Order: sequence, then C-alpha cells, then structure tokens
Amino acid sequence: MSREWVASRQYMQEKVEKLVIIGSGPAGLTAAIYGCRADLDPLVYMGTKYGGQLMLTSEVENFPGFPDPVLGPDLIARMKSQAERLGARLLQEDVVKVNFRTYPFEVHSDSGVTRALSVIIATGANPRRLNLPSEMRLMGKGVSNCAVCDAFFFRGKKVAVVGGGDTAMEEATFLAKFATSVQVVHRRDELRASAALKKEAFDNPKISFVWDSVVTEVLGDGKVSGARLKNVKTGRETDLKVDGVFVAIGYDPTTEIFRGQLELDPKGYIVVRNETGSSVPGVFVAGDVHDFRYRQAITAAADGCKALLDAEKFVKQKLEVKVAS
Ligand code: NAP
Repeated sequence: MSREWVASRQYMQEKVEKLVIIGSGPAGLTAAIYGCRADLDPLVYMGTKYGGQLMLTSEVENFPGFPDPVLGPDLIARMKSQAERLGARLLQEDVVKVNFRTYPFEVHSDSGVTRALSVIIATGANPRRLNLPSEMRLMGKGVSNCAVCDAFFFRGKKVAVVGGGDTAMEEATFLAKFATSVQVVHRRDELRASAALKKEAFDNPKISFVWDSVVTEVLGDGKVSGARLKNVKTGRETDLKVDGVFVAIGYDPTTEIFRGQLELDPKGYIVVRNETGSSVPGVFVAGDVHDFRYRQAITAAADGCKALLDAEKFVKQKLEVKVAS
C-alpha cells in the first residue's frame, strides 16, 4: 500500500490540516499570509511567547515600507493582524513534540495532536546572552545583538563587541562603518572566526582587541556608558568607556523538538536541501532556524514566502493523488 494512498485515505476519513506552520516571527507569519492566499487554510502554532526576536527589538528602520521607524513588536502585530484578516488560524501554544516518521505528520501541543499534509518550521534562533542583569536592563538602550539593525544609532560613537566568532567579526566590521572605534572583547587570546573575516577585522584601523577578557557588567543608568571587564588570566578589572555593547557570542537555533526527526548540523541548525526542504519531504524550513548567515527580518520573511510556495506544490500533488484514487 503506497504512502500516498494511505495519506489520501486518512485525509478523507479525518480532519487533516493542509499546512501547519510552527513559529510566528517574520518567517512564520509571512508563510501564513501566503498560505491563506494559496487556499491552504494554515494553522499556525505561534508559541506561548510569540513573535520571535523582533519582540525584543526597539526601533526597526530597515524594513521596507516603513519610512518612519517601527517598533519590533508593532511590526509583528501588523504581520499577525494581516495573517488573521486573511483567515490564518493562530494558536498561542507551544509545540511540544512532532512525529515526521508517520504520514500525515503529527504535531503535538498541550491541547492535542494535529495531523498535517505539510509543515513549515519557522521556530527561529535565540541570540546567546551574557546572562548579566545589567545586560537585560540596558537591552535596546545601548545593548544590542544586531549590528545591521542598530549600528546606525552609533554613528560617531564608541562601541564594544563581545565574542570571537564569525558573527563578532562581521558585527565589528559593520559597526566600524559608523562608530569611531570598535573594541572586540574576547575571552581567549585567539579568535574562532574564519581566516577571511579575521583578516578583515585585523586590517580595519578602527577595530582593536581586548584579549582574555569577559564583560562582568554593562555600565550605565538609562543608557549604556561603559562595560566592566575582567581579565580571566590576571583577574584585573577595568572599565571600558563605550556607548554601545554588541553581544555576538553565537545563536542557539530552536530545534530541540526536531532532534532525531530531521537532519540537524553540529550546531543544531536544520540542514536544508533544495532551498527550503528538510531531510523529510513535506517538511519545509524558513528563517533563522536554518539561516545562520543573514538573520534579518526581511530575509526571514522572504524565506517564509519561499517555503510556502514549495509547500503549496507539495500539498497540491498530495491532493491530486487523493482525487485520482
Ligand atoms: P560561534 O562560532 O559559536 O562563536 C561564538 C563566540 O562567542 C566564540 O568566540 C566564543 O568564545 C564566544 N562566546 C561564547 N559564549 C560566550 C560567553 N558566555 N562569554 C563570552 N564569549 C562567549 O557563533 P557565531 O559567531 O554566531 O557563528 C555561528 C555559526 O554561524 C558558525 O558556524 C559560523 O561560522 C557561522 N557564521 C557564518 C558567517 C559567514 O559565513 N559569513 C557569519 C556569521 C556566522 P570561544 O571562541 O572561546 O568559544
């Protein structure tokens, strides 16, 4: 008995969603908007803390269509209401388990199990934090995780970048276009970043390095005025006078529930094939959950659109099999 036949028979016998979307950042909500227009009647598991990284962003100045800055949470609210107006069903629930070994696929939340002909995963990634109370207090007030989003606000100012990987080097190089000086604070005396990005940073006269050091406190009252550093070899503490602290110590993709179900790379990102596909046909991927390179709201949104167009083709084929059988 073919997999397609089993799927189409079940589709006739019980409610099976054409499309389930997991995640509600720009990738998930764009997929939902396009999914409604494609008549896939998407069911979106937004998560209990919906919206993703934009919910922690203050002003967004680089999303096309907004000549005046828009607050990150407002941008998400607009995407959400656009999806709702078009008919998307948005659940403020966390998915706790998936089963992609059965078909239709199963998506489990606390309120039950949903079966689906296709799934788009847009669960995003979270920037790692230093886990300092002062970092959280001054987040958006000089502390940032995104140079592309916020460098513009540091024109003519001094900034620190924490981290020694590719992201830190990219952030430092980008920030150097705006800031007068960029000091990279790294906990070792050797960078983890790739040779090319390292060279670019070393060659930039505005970028300098503070080795073997960690940030123990972000200083400032209302806005960042500096960073307290501790040399991990000598234990000596110094204060760095800066207007911004960019924390670039890596990201953790939200993929725990997909472990063992989909192919993940060693850092936990979902491995994609053919642009938006995963290792399981019918399960598509969009946004930062696979994309560690671009990580922008606009690239995530574009990815959501692409994943939906691929899911639409997949579902159409499944439904044609149903009609033919
Ligand atoms: P990463 O490679 O994991 O590097 C994180 C950096 O932060 C490391 O230098 C690490 O120090 C440091 N760090 C981690 N936790 C810390 C803490 N609590 N306090 C202080 N420092 C801490 O992360 P990433 O740079 O975001 O890169 C992630 C992946 O994306 C990598 O595979 C990278 O190659 C890729 N990427 C590629 C590009 C590109 O190709 N253009 C751009 C960005 C990222 P240690 O070195 O001591 O561990």
